[in-house]
Amino acid sequence: MLILPRSSLDVMIGKVALAEKAGRKVVKMLAGEPDFDTPPPVVDAAKKALEASRTHYVLASGIPELKEAIVRNFAKKSVKLDVSNILISPGARFCIFAAVASVCEEGDEVLVPAPYWNGYNGLVAAAGAKLVSAPLENLEKAITAKTKMIMINSPNNPSGEVYDEKTLTHIAELAAKRGIYLLSDEIYGELVYGGAKHISIATLPQADKDKLIIADGFSKTYAMTGWRLGYMHAPDAIAKKAAALQMHITHSPTSFAQYGALAALSGEADEYVGNMRRTLEKRRDMLCEGLSAIKGLKFNKPKGAFYVMLDVSGLGMSGEEFADRLLQEQNLAVIPCADFGAPCCVRLSYACSDGNLRESLARLRLFAASVSRPS
Ligand code: PMP
Repeated sequence: MLILPRSSLDVMIGKVALAEKAGRKVVKMLAGEPDFDTPPPVVDAAKKALEASRTHYVLASGIPELKEAIVRNFAKKSVKLDVSNILISPGARFCIFAAVASVCEEGDEVLVPAPYWNGYNGLVAAAGAKLVSAPLENLEKAITAKTKMIMINSPNNPSGEVYDEKTLTHIAELAAKRGIYLLSDEIYGELVYGGAKHISIATLPQADKDKLIIADGFSKTYAMTGWRLGYMHAPDAIAKKAAALQMHITHSPTSFAQYGALAALSGEADEYVGNMRRTLEKRRDMLCEGLSAIKGLKFNKPKGAFYVMLDVSGLGMSGEEFADRLLQEQNLAVIPCADFGAPCCVRLSYACSDGNLRESLARLRLFAASVSRPS
């Protein structure tokens, strides 16, 4: 029987539920989704689709109009995608699973630079493959005869790092040289701050297009996590296999949701996305300013996504001990990053209100002061 890992987020949510049941008021920095509503033009388009009875089965790999809009969007970056190689799925998570399952045989390895989104652990395991992680600098050394895919994520969950062109070129060259598939998860690509630029690896000539998979989705950019819509573009054979897998398991993603996504990609939601990006950037700045005044915490200011990854080893504890004690002693919930490949770190999400951020900072200050005081 398939044994799947339990994610640190689920474990923490369980601990928070127990604390709340005991009457404690817990402040949370856990959210993996924007605390914004889906932009109204997207909602309206989905409502219209419902009213127009777009409520039947559609093409299993996704509606052609949405695939064409994805192709048009990439064409703006001078990337030529093929409509027939696009798979629209119930969430980017499913596309990535389907890609791994289509590329890997049982026991093959997927190499991921650390830190990485902990969701990969479960989806790679569900595909029968094995996740191997290594720091970016040591990626090449971690390649074995079983490595079938390198999987990257920039802007990164949990670090907020945005890979520059040099780094992406190096990864693209490495994968091409070793004849390995390269999957680039670009789901936070629109959420970058302070002049940082997200470069899709698909724009680099060094990437081997016959082995390149680009995954993206609507969850983060358009605050559409509950709509369950993501997509990927993959080489022909992989796209076909993944589409067949999806068809057998779930058929297509929800019909009318895809019409909402179509409005999102047509630019109707751009103003809302811009507002959200500006708000997130302000919160990032506020949080980082507060954190840099707390002794014992180390972090790189994130350039994208909506997380800060804090190295807490300066306080003499692991990420897990830090998170457990922070919840216990200050009623503040953060996620330990062991299953993100960073055991000395915790992830803070700033997809929450300014008030929540201020309160979180106050609790972090109290906690750090209490643990760093000599006993
Ligand atoms: N990739 C990354 C890096 C993520 O953080 C997430 C969501 N937490 C996903 C993929 C999955 O997104 P979706 O809602 O489209 O399945």
